[in-house]
Amino acid sequence: MRNNTESPSIPSNPETIPINWPAAITLWATLAASIVLVPAYAIWNDYSTSAWITFISLALLNGIAITAGYHRLWAHRAYQANVVVRFVLLVFGTMAVQNSVFVWASGHRRHHRHVDSHDEDPYAATRGFWFSHMGWMVRCYPSGKDEFSNIPDLLLDRMLQFQHQYYALLALSINFGLPFLIGFLTNDLWGVVILGGLFRLVWCHHTTFFINSLAHIWGKRPYTDTNTARDNPILAFFTYGECYHNYHHLFQYDYRNGIRWYQFDPTKWLICGLSFLGLTHDLKRIPEFKIEKARLDMQFKVAQNKLACSKLSKLETVTALKNRLAHEYDVFTAALQQWAKVKEEQIKATKHAFHNYDLLKNYKNQLAHIERQLKSQRKRVDQILEQLPDLLA
Ligand SMILES: [Zn+2]
Ligand SMILES: [Zn+2]
Repeated sequence: MRNNTESPSIPSNPETIPINWPAAITLWATLAASIVLVPAYAIWNDYSTSAWITFISLALLNGIAITAGYHRLWAHRAYQANVVVRFVLLVFGTMAVQNSVFVWASGHRRHHRHVDSHDEDPYAATRGFWFSHMGWMVRCYPSGKDEFSNIPDLLLDRMLQFQHQYYALLALSINFGLPFLIGFLTNDLWGVVILGGLFRLVWCHHTTFFINSLAHIWGKRPYTDTNTARDNPILAFFTYGECYHNYHHLFQYDYRNGIRWYQFDPTKWLICGLSFLGLTHDLKRIPEFKIEKARLDMQFKVAQNKLACSKLSKLETVTALKNRLAHEYDVFTAALQQWAKVKEEQIKATKHAFHNYDLLKNYKNQLAHIERQLKSQRKRVDQILEQLPDLLA
Protein backbone atom coordinates (compact mmCIF):
# COMPACT_ATOMS: atom_id res chain seq x y z
CA MET A 1 0.00 0.00 0.00
CA ARG A 2 2.95 2.33 0.55
CA ASN A 3 6.62 2.62 -0.19
CA ASN A 4 8.12 4.84 2.47
CA THR A 5 11.90 5.10 2.29
CA GLU A 6 12.56 7.31 5.35
CA SER A 7 15.05 6.00 7.90
CA PRO A 8 13.55 4.71 11.17
CA SER A 9 13.25 7.27 13.91
CA ILE A 10 11.09 7.83 16.98
CA PRO A 11 8.50 10.47 16.12
CA SER A 12 7.88 13.03 18.85
CA ASN A 13 4.26 13.32 17.79
CA PRO A 14 2.52 10.56 15.79
CA GLU A 15 0.18 13.15 14.30
CA THR A 16 3.08 14.54 12.27
CA ILE A 17 3.34 11.16 10.48
CA PRO A 18 1.46 11.26 7.15
CA ILE A 19 -1.81 9.33 6.97
CA ASN A 20 -1.82 6.20 4.83
CA TRP A 21 -5.07 7.10 3.07
CA PRO A 22 -5.85 3.82 1.22
CA ALA A 23 -5.49 1.80 4.44
CA ALA A 24 -7.18 4.40 6.66
CA ILE A 25 -10.21 4.73 4.36
CA THR A 26 -10.54 0.95 3.94
CA LEU A 27 -10.33 0.24 7.66
CA TRP A 28 -12.39 3.17 8.97
CA ALA A 29 -15.04 3.19 6.23
CA THR A 30 -15.77 -0.54 6.50
CA LEU A 31 -15.86 -0.35 10.32
CA ALA A 32 -18.18 2.69 10.33
CA ALA A 33 -20.46 1.28 7.62
CA SER A 34 -20.64 -2.01 9.48
CA ILE A 35 -21.62 -0.38 12.79
CA VAL A 36 -24.47 1.48 11.07
CA LEU A 37 -25.69 -0.95 8.41
CA VAL A 38 -25.50 -4.34 10.17
CA PRO A 39 -28.00 -3.51 12.98
CA ALA A 40 -30.09 -1.25 10.71
CA TYR A 41 -30.67 -4.04 8.20
CA ALA A 42 -31.44 -6.50 11.03
CA ILE A 43 -34.15 -4.13 12.36
CA TRP A 44 -35.85 -3.53 9.01
CA ASN A 45 -35.37 -6.79 7.14
CA ASP A 46 -33.81 -9.50 9.28
CA TYR A 47 -31.08 -11.67 7.82
CA SER A 48 -31.85 -14.79 5.80
CA THR A 49 -30.26 -18.17 6.50
CA SER A 50 -28.22 -17.80 3.33
CA ALA A 51 -26.78 -14.49 4.60
CA TRP A 52 -25.67 -16.20 7.84
CA ILE A 53 -24.24 -19.21 6.00
CA THR A 54 -22.31 -16.85 3.68
CA PHE A 55 -20.96 -14.90 6.66
CA ILE A 56 -19.82 -18.02 8.55
CA SER A 57 -18.33 -19.74 5.49
CA LEU A 58 -16.45 -16.74 4.17
CA ALA A 59 -15.25 -15.71 7.65
CA LEU A 60 -13.85 -19.21 8.14
CA LEU A 61 -12.27 -19.33 4.68
CA ASN A 62 -10.74 -15.85 4.99
CA GLY A 63 -9.47 -16.44 8.54
CA ILE A 64 -7.95 -19.84 7.79
CA ALA A 65 -6.40 -18.50 4.56
CA ILE A 66 -4.58 -15.89 6.62
CA THR A 67 -3.49 -18.25 9.43
CA ALA A 68 -2.66 -21.35 7.36
CA GLY A 69 -1.58 -19.47 4.24
CA TYR A 70 -0.21 -15.97 4.82
CA HIS A 71 1.13 -16.82 8.28
CA ARG A 72 2.26 -20.43 8.66
CA LEU A 73 2.88 -21.32 5.00
CA TRP A 74 4.37 -18.16 3.48
CA ALA A 75 5.68 -16.04 6.38
CA HIS A 76 7.18 -18.97 8.35
CA ARG A 77 7.53 -21.81 5.78
CA ALA A 78 6.34 -24.15 8.55
CA TYR A 79 5.12 -26.65 5.95
CA GLN A 80 4.81 -27.08 2.19
CA ALA A 81 1.56 -27.29 0.23
CA ASN A 82 0.63 -28.36 -3.27
CA VAL A 83 -0.44 -25.88 -5.91
CA VAL A 84 -4.20 -26.35 -5.42
CA VAL A 85 -3.99 -25.66 -1.68
CA ARG A 86 -1.74 -22.65 -2.29
CA PHE A 87 -4.15 -21.27 -4.89
CA VAL A 88 -7.20 -21.61 -2.62
CA LEU A 89 -5.32 -20.05 0.31
CA LEU A 90 -4.19 -17.19 -1.91
CA VAL A 91 -7.70 -16.48 -3.25
CA PHE A 92 -9.34 -16.33 0.18
CA GLY A 93 -6.31 -14.61 1.75
CA THR A 94 -6.64 -11.88 -0.91
CA MET A 95 -10.30 -11.57 0.04
CA ALA A 96 -9.35 -10.86 3.67
CA VAL A 97 -7.89 -7.47 2.53
CA GLN A 98 -4.67 -7.61 4.51
CA ASN A 99 -2.43 -6.63 1.59
CA SER A 100 -0.36 -8.92 -0.63
CA VAL A 101 1.59 -11.91 0.71
CA PHE A 102 4.84 -10.02 0.00
CA VAL A 103 3.84 -7.08 2.20
CA TRP A 104 2.24 -9.23 4.91
CA ALA A 105 5.02 -11.81 5.19
CA SER A 106 7.92 -9.34 5.09
CA GLY A 107 6.29 -7.26 7.84
CA HIS A 108 5.59 -10.37 9.89
CA ARG A 109 9.15 -11.66 9.58
CA ARG A 110 10.35 -8.26 10.82
CA HIS A 111 7.84 -8.49 13.70
CA HIS A 112 9.39 -11.79 14.80
CA ARG A 113 12.97 -10.69 14.30
CA HIS A 114 12.61 -7.36 16.11
CA VAL A 115 9.64 -8.09 18.36
CA ASP A 116 8.75 -5.15 20.65
CA SER A 117 11.38 -2.86 19.08
CA HIS A 118 9.97 0.66 18.74
CA ASP A 119 11.84 1.31 15.47
CA GLU A 120 11.94 -2.09 13.79
CA ASP A 121 8.81 -4.06 14.78
CA PRO A 122 6.02 -2.83 12.43
CA TYR A 123 3.33 -3.49 15.07
CA ALA A 124 5.26 -3.36 18.34
CA ALA A 125 2.92 -3.98 21.29
CA THR A 126 5.26 -1.85 23.40
CA ARG A 127 3.81 1.16 21.54
CA GLY A 128 0.37 0.50 23.01
CA PHE A 129 -2.83 -1.39 22.24
CA TRP A 130 -4.12 0.98 19.58
CA PHE A 131 -0.84 1.15 17.67
CA SER A 132 -0.38 -2.63 17.54
CA HIS A 133 -4.06 -3.27 16.71
CA MET A 134 -4.68 -0.83 13.88
CA GLY A 135 -2.75 2.41 14.37
CA TRP A 136 0.38 1.09 12.66
CA MET A 137 -1.52 0.73 9.38
CA VAL A 138 -3.33 4.07 9.21
CA ARG A 139 -0.19 6.21 9.15
CA CYS A 140 3.05 5.82 7.15
CA TYR A 141 5.28 5.01 10.11
CA PRO A 142 8.93 4.38 9.14
CA SER A 143 8.79 1.12 11.11
CA GLY A 144 6.03 -0.12 8.78
CA LYS A 145 7.64 0.67 5.45
CA ASP A 146 7.52 -1.99 2.71
CA GLU A 147 10.89 -3.70 2.47
CA PHE A 148 11.25 -7.10 0.82
CA SER A 149 14.89 -8.05 1.45
CA ASN A 150 13.76 -10.66 4.02
CA ILE A 151 11.49 -12.61 1.63
CA PRO A 152 13.84 -13.72 -1.22
CA ASP A 153 12.19 -17.17 -1.15
CA LEU A 154 8.72 -15.70 -1.75
CA LEU A 155 9.77 -13.21 -4.43
CA LEU A 156 10.51 -16.12 -6.79
CA ASP A 157 6.96 -17.48 -6.57
CA ARG A 158 5.06 -16.56 -9.76
CA MET A 159 1.61 -16.91 -8.17
CA LEU A 160 2.63 -14.51 -5.38
CA GLN A 161 4.21 -12.11 -7.90
CA PHE A 162 0.89 -11.97 -9.79
CA GLN A 163 -1.08 -11.39 -6.59
CA HIS A 164 1.25 -8.55 -5.54
CA GLN A 165 1.12 -6.85 -8.93
CA TYR A 166 -2.67 -6.88 -9.23
CA TYR A 167 -3.54 -6.90 -5.55
CA ALA A 168 -5.98 -3.95 -5.41
CA LEU A 169 -7.89 -5.14 -8.48
CA LEU A 170 -8.07 -8.74 -7.22
CA ALA A 171 -9.11 -7.76 -3.68
CA LEU A 172 -11.84 -5.38 -4.91
CA SER A 173 -13.18 -7.85 -7.50
CA ILE A 174 -13.51 -10.77 -5.14
CA ASN A 175 -14.89 -8.68 -2.25
CA PHE A 176 -17.62 -7.16 -4.37
CA GLY A 177 -18.06 -10.00 -6.85
CA LEU A 178 -18.53 -13.00 -4.59
CA PRO A 179 -21.05 -11.56 -2.05
CA PHE A 180 -23.09 -9.93 -4.87
CA LEU A 181 -23.10 -13.19 -6.82
CA ILE A 182 -24.16 -15.26 -3.78
CA GLY A 183 -26.77 -12.64 -2.82
CA PHE A 184 -28.17 -12.63 -6.34
CA LEU A 185 -28.33 -16.44 -6.51
CA THR A 186 -29.94 -16.79 -3.07
CA ASN A 187 -32.43 -13.98 -3.62
CA ASP A 188 -31.20 -11.95 -0.65
CA LEU A 189 -28.83 -9.51 -2.32
CA TRP A 190 -28.42 -6.85 0.40
CA GLY A 191 -28.59 -9.26 3.35
CA VAL A 192 -25.72 -11.32 1.94
CA VAL A 193 -23.73 -8.24 0.89
CA ILE A 194 -24.03 -6.58 4.32
CA LEU A 195 -23.48 -9.67 6.47
CA GLY A 196 -21.33 -11.90 4.25
CA GLY A 197 -19.51 -9.05 2.51
CA LEU A 198 -19.15 -6.04 4.80
CA PHE A 199 -19.43 -7.51 8.31
CA ARG A 200 -17.37 -10.58 7.38
CA LEU A 201 -14.52 -8.31 6.27
CA VAL A 202 -14.60 -6.21 9.46
CA TRP A 203 -14.85 -9.36 11.61
CA CYS A 204 -11.84 -10.93 9.84
CA HIS A 205 -9.82 -7.75 10.12
CA HIS A 206 -10.24 -7.27 13.85
CA THR A 207 -9.94 -10.92 14.88
CA THR A 208 -6.60 -11.01 13.01
CA PHE A 209 -5.53 -7.67 14.49
CA PHE A 210 -6.14 -9.09 18.00
CA ILE A 211 -3.15 -11.40 17.40
CA ASN A 212 -0.89 -8.34 17.17
CA SER A 213 -2.54 -6.40 19.98
CA LEU A 214 -4.32 -8.49 22.66
CA ALA A 215 -2.12 -11.59 22.21
CA HIS A 216 0.81 -9.38 23.23
CA ILE A 217 -1.00 -7.99 26.30
CA TRP A 218 -3.42 -10.57 27.78
CA GLY A 219 -2.42 -14.12 28.76
CA LYS A 220 0.37 -16.23 30.19
CA ARG A 221 4.02 -16.60 29.26
CA PRO A 222 4.88 -20.27 29.90
CA TYR A 223 7.80 -20.50 27.45
CA THR A 224 9.63 -17.17 27.49
CA ASP A 225 9.41 -13.74 29.10
CA THR A 226 11.91 -12.16 26.74
CA ASN A 227 9.07 -10.60 24.72
CA THR A 228 5.46 -9.50 25.24
CA ALA A 229 3.77 -12.42 23.40
CA ARG A 230 1.17 -14.37 25.42
CA ASP A 231 -0.66 -17.70 25.28
CA ASN A 232 -4.40 -17.13 25.55
CA PRO A 233 -6.90 -19.97 24.90
CA ILE A 234 -9.88 -17.57 24.79
CA LEU A 235 -8.32 -15.50 22.00
CA ALA A 236 -7.19 -18.71 20.25
CA PHE A 237 -10.88 -19.57 19.83
CA PHE A 238 -11.49 -16.40 17.78
CA THR A 239 -8.24 -16.55 15.82
CA TYR A 240 -8.27 -20.13 14.50
CA GLY A 241 -5.64 -21.19 17.05
CA GLU A 242 -3.19 -18.34 16.53
CA CYS A 243 -3.15 -17.02 20.08
CA TYR A 244 -0.81 -19.56 21.61
CA HIS A 245 1.43 -16.69 20.76
CA ASN A 246 4.07 -17.07 23.49
CA TYR A 247 4.89 -20.53 22.14
CA HIS A 248 4.76 -19.24 18.58
CA HIS A 249 7.24 -16.42 19.20
CA LEU A 250 9.78 -18.85 20.64
CA PHE A 251 9.21 -21.60 18.07
CA GLN A 252 7.97 -19.78 14.98
CA TYR A 253 8.82 -22.59 12.53
CA ASP A 254 6.46 -25.11 14.16
CA TYR A 255 3.35 -25.59 12.00
CA ARG A 256 1.39 -25.83 15.26
CA ASN A 257 0.62 -22.96 17.63
CA GLY A 258 -1.40 -24.98 20.12
CA ILE A 259 0.88 -27.97 20.59
CA ARG A 260 -1.28 -30.05 22.96
CA TRP A 261 -4.10 -32.18 21.59
CA TYR A 262 -6.66 -30.30 23.70
CA GLN A 263 -5.53 -26.83 22.60
CA PHE A 264 -7.91 -25.24 20.07
CA ASP A 265 -5.91 -24.87 16.88
CA PRO A 266 -8.06 -25.62 13.80
CA THR A 267 -5.30 -24.29 11.54
CA LYS A 268 -3.02 -27.06 12.83
CA TRP A 269 -5.77 -29.66 12.36
CA LEU A 270 -6.36 -28.49 8.79
CA ILE A 271 -2.65 -28.58 7.83
CA CYS A 272 -2.23 -31.99 9.46
CA GLY A 273 -5.46 -33.33 7.91
CA LEU A 274 -4.37 -32.21 4.44
CA SER A 275 -1.04 -34.00 4.93
CA PHE A 276 -2.93 -37.33 5.21
CA LEU A 277 -4.42 -36.58 1.78
CA GLY A 278 -0.96 -35.77 0.40
CA LEU A 279 -1.87 -32.11 -0.13
CA THR A 280 0.61 -30.72 2.42
CA HIS A 281 4.03 -32.07 3.41
CA ASP A 282 7.24 -31.32 5.32
CA LEU A 283 5.30 -30.25 8.42
CA LYS A 284 7.86 -28.84 10.87
CA ARG A 285 7.57 -29.70 14.57
CA ILE A 286 9.88 -28.59 17.34
CA PRO A 287 11.21 -31.67 19.25
CA GLU A 288 9.35 -32.24 22.49
CA PHE A 289 12.50 -32.06 24.62
CA LYS A 290 13.24 -28.53 23.37
CA ILE A 291 9.72 -27.46 24.30
CA GLU A 292 10.08 -29.08 27.72
CA LYS A 293 13.42 -27.32 28.21
CA ALA A 294 11.87 -23.94 27.46
CA ARG A 295 8.98 -24.62 29.86
CA LEU A 296 11.25 -25.83 32.64
CA ASP A 297 13.73 -22.97 32.14
CA MET A 298 10.81 -20.59 32.54
CA GLN A 299 9.57 -22.40 35.65
CA PHE A 300 13.05 -22.25 37.21
CA LYS A 301 13.23 -18.54 36.44
CA VAL A 302 9.83 -17.83 38.01
CA ALA A 303 10.68 -19.94 41.07
CA GLN A 304 14.02 -18.19 41.56
CA ASN A 305 12.42 -14.75 41.26
CA LYS A 306 9.76 -15.70 43.79
CA LEU A 307 12.31 -17.12 46.19
CA ALA A 308 14.30 -13.89 45.94
CA CYS A 309 11.19 -11.99 47.12
CA SER A 310 10.25 -14.35 49.98
CA LYS A 311 10.17 -13.32 53.64
CA LEU A 312 13.41 -13.25 55.60
CA SER A 313 11.66 -14.96 58.53
CA LYS A 314 11.49 -18.11 56.42
CA LEU A 315 15.15 -17.98 55.47
CA GLU A 316 15.92 -21.62 56.30
CA THR A 317 13.11 -23.01 54.17
CA VAL A 318 13.96 -20.61 51.36
CA THR A 319 17.63 -21.67 51.36
CA ALA A 320 16.63 -25.35 51.32
CA LEU A 321 14.27 -24.79 48.38
CA LYS A 322 16.90 -22.78 46.53
CA ASN A 323 19.35 -25.67 46.92
CA ARG A 324 16.75 -28.20 45.78
CA LEU A 325 15.94 -26.05 42.78
CA ALA A 326 19.63 -25.70 41.84
CA HIS A 327 20.03 -29.48 42.15
CA GLU A 328 16.96 -30.15 40.00
CA TYR A 329 18.29 -27.77 37.36
CA ASP A 330 21.65 -29.62 37.22
CA VAL A 331 19.90 -33.01 36.96
CA PHE A 332 17.61 -31.63 34.27
CA THR A 333 20.46 -30.18 32.19
CA ALA A 334 22.44 -33.44 32.42
CA ALA A 335 19.40 -35.52 31.38
CA LEU A 336 18.77 -33.22 28.47
CA GLN A 337 22.38 -33.39 27.27
CA GLN A 338 22.23 -37.17 27.49
CA TRP A 339 18.97 -37.19 25.51
CA ALA A 340 20.56 -35.07 22.74
CA LYS A 341 23.62 -37.39 22.63
CA VAL A 342 21.55 -40.59 22.40
CA LYS A 343 19.30 -38.99 19.80
CA GLU A 344 22.32 -38.09 17.66
CA GLU A 345 23.63 -41.65 17.92
CA GLN A 346 20.20 -42.99 17.05
CA ILE A 347 20.07 -40.84 13.89
CA LYS A 348 23.53 -42.07 12.85
CA ALA A 349 22.55 -45.70 13.51
CA THR A 350 19.33 -45.27 11.52
CA LYS A 351 21.43 -44.11 8.55
CA HIS A 352 24.32 -46.57 8.72
CA ALA A 353 23.02 -49.61 10.61
CA PHE A 354 19.31 -49.53 9.82
CA HIS A 355 19.23 -53.38 9.59
CA ASN A 356 20.49 -53.74 13.19
CA TYR A 357 17.09 -53.85 14.90
CA ASP A 358 18.50 -54.65 18.36
CA LEU A 359 20.72 -51.57 18.29
CA LEU A 360 17.85 -49.33 17.14
CA LYS A 361 15.55 -50.78 19.78
CA ASN A 362 18.18 -50.12 22.41
CA TYR A 363 18.36 -46.41 21.43
CA LYS A 364 14.59 -46.19 21.48
CA ASN A 365 14.46 -47.65 25.00
CA GLN A 366 17.22 -45.32 26.22
CA LEU A 367 15.36 -42.28 24.91
CA ALA A 368 12.09 -43.41 26.48
CA HIS A 369 13.89 -43.88 29.81
CA ILE A 370 15.36 -40.35 29.73
CA GLU A 371 12.01 -38.88 28.72
CA ARG A 372 10.40 -40.57 31.75
CA GLN A 373 13.13 -39.03 33.93
CA LEU A 374 12.40 -35.58 32.52
CA LYS A 375 8.69 -36.02 33.19
CA SER A 376 9.19 -37.01 36.82
CA GLN A 377 11.53 -34.07 37.21
CA ARG A 378 8.81 -31.74 36.01
CA LYS A 379 6.61 -33.11 38.82
CA ARG A 380 9.32 -32.42 41.40
CA VAL A 381 9.70 -28.83 40.18
CA ASP A 382 5.91 -28.43 40.31
CA GLN A 383 6.00 -29.56 43.96
CA ILE A 384 8.62 -26.92 44.76
CA LEU A 385 6.51 -24.28 43.03
CA GLU A 386 3.45 -25.32 45.07
CA GLN A 387 5.30 -24.42 48.25
CA LEU A 388 6.11 -20.89 47.11
CA PRO A 389 2.80 -19.15 47.89
CA ASP A 390 3.20 -20.05 51.60
CA LEU A 391 6.62 -18.46 51.67
CA LEU A 392 5.36 -15.27 50.10
CA ALA A 393 2.35 -14.99 52.43
ZN1 LIG B 1 3.45 -11.42 17.71
ZN1 LIG C 1 4.31 -15.60 13.26
